[in-house]
Amino acid sequence: MTFKDLKIIDPILKAVAEVGYTHPTPIQEQSIPILLSGKDLLGCAQTGTGKTAAFAIPIIQQLYNNRQQNTNYRKIKALIVTPTRELAIQIADNFTLYGKYTGIKNTVVFGGVKQGAQTQALKKGVDILVATPGRLLDLMQQGYISLSDISFFVLDEADHMLDMGFIHDIRKIIVKIPVKRQSLFFSATMPQAIVALSGKILGHPEKVTIRPEQATAEKVTQSVYFVSKKSKPKLLIHLLQNETVSSVLIFSRTKHGANKIVKLLDKVSIKAEAIHGNKSQTARQKALANFKNGDTAVLIATDIAARGIDVEELSLVINYDLPNISETYVHRIGRTGRANASGIAISFCDNEEKAFLRDIQKLIGQNIPAVLEHPFMNDMVDEQLPEAKSKHKKQQFWSKNKGNKNRNNPNKNKSQHQSRKRY
Ligand code: AMP
Repeated sequence: MTFKDLKIIDPILKAVAEVGYTHPTPIQEQSIPILLSGKDLLGCAQTGTGKTAAFAIPIIQQLYNNRQQNTNYRKIKALIVTPTRELAIQIADNFTLYGKYTGIKNTVVFGGVKQGAQTQALKKGVDILVATPGRLLDLMQQGYISLSDISFFVLDEADHMLDMGFIHDIRKIIVKIPVKRQSLFFSATMPQAIVALSGKILGHPEKVTIRPEQATAEKVTQSVYFVSKKSKPKLLIHLLQNETVSSVLIFSRTKHGANKIVKLLDKVSIKAEAIHGNKSQTARQKALANFKNGDTAVLIATDIAARGIDVEELSLVINYDLPNISETYVHRIGRTGRANASGIAISFCDNEEKAFLRDIQKLIGQNIPAVLEHPFMNDMVDEQLPEAKSKHKKQQFWSKNKGNKNRNNPNKNKSQHQSRKRY
């Protein structure tokens, strides 16, 4: 199956070829025909599956084909609402890429920055608007944005919208959009509240479900280091100093933790930057740009801030903390296995995180191979067995954990040194 087989028009084919996509991803294969036929879509899929192109390409194509009939030149005809600024920027960038030869214009609005540049862009007129909910409502109230010409509406990452408390904003937005429209609704998970919300937005949708968990997990070479909480900083420095890696994304569960890692690495002259919700939008964008263009080799992120981070050539993801939600693990490691690429993911697991590890392994349907020979492994035994540091107890400890050791590990016959050299 090629993009041409999906009846994509030449100007978009040309742009897609330039970006280097040779074949559509599964979600694109399934969604594009549905969307080009004008039907509503309920997509159960998350970032990393190629879902942005799955909705952006058919929207651009329909706007392009309708452009002669359109008397409402440069009025906003497509609205994409997404929870975070990073995602909004990324989606708009994708529209720009795929629409490069169509003359279809887009812009993006999001909070946390002054609105001047955004209202200027809106005044010039655009066909497509990508927005986060708060700033969208704000600019609507001020009269800069009208939704009365919308014929395509996309609600992206609906489950995160609800998690982030945007439900009221979404309701306010929906009532302002014309009823006659094509609606697209994307969510990685489909709990009852999301199904109910989708019912309010969609007519009789076609459904597409892409479960990336297994696929992502299979593409990425994973390992887990059992390590005490107190030795995590030492292990991190040890790994970063001993390996040549071009770009590392480190996940921290908390903003405070992310800042601490930056300071820690700074002390050993490893340049790192953090992105999280307490940083200004400008600081986040700057840190991301430095990381993307290679000025900073190490970026530390919290999960929310990392949504939408899309870095080619990302060589390594480190989970400094394991996430308590298993899907988040898949999402994190998927950063290094984008589309058809493969990558490497290392996780640190302290005693308190072992339950998270079990849940993750259940979700991905495989045991993550453990690296048991590292300089700080005994600290963990000591932490768990402070009263008995005997060799005998340690042996008992490792035999309890050995279920993880090298199972499913394609490198199990390689020496430790060789297997570490993989990244
Ligand atoms: P998304 O799920 O939209 O965030 O896309 C994930 C990544 O896949 C992005 O880096 C896209 O540029 C890339 N991508 C999307 N579609 C394709 C494709 N057909 N072939 C290769 N890469 C793609």
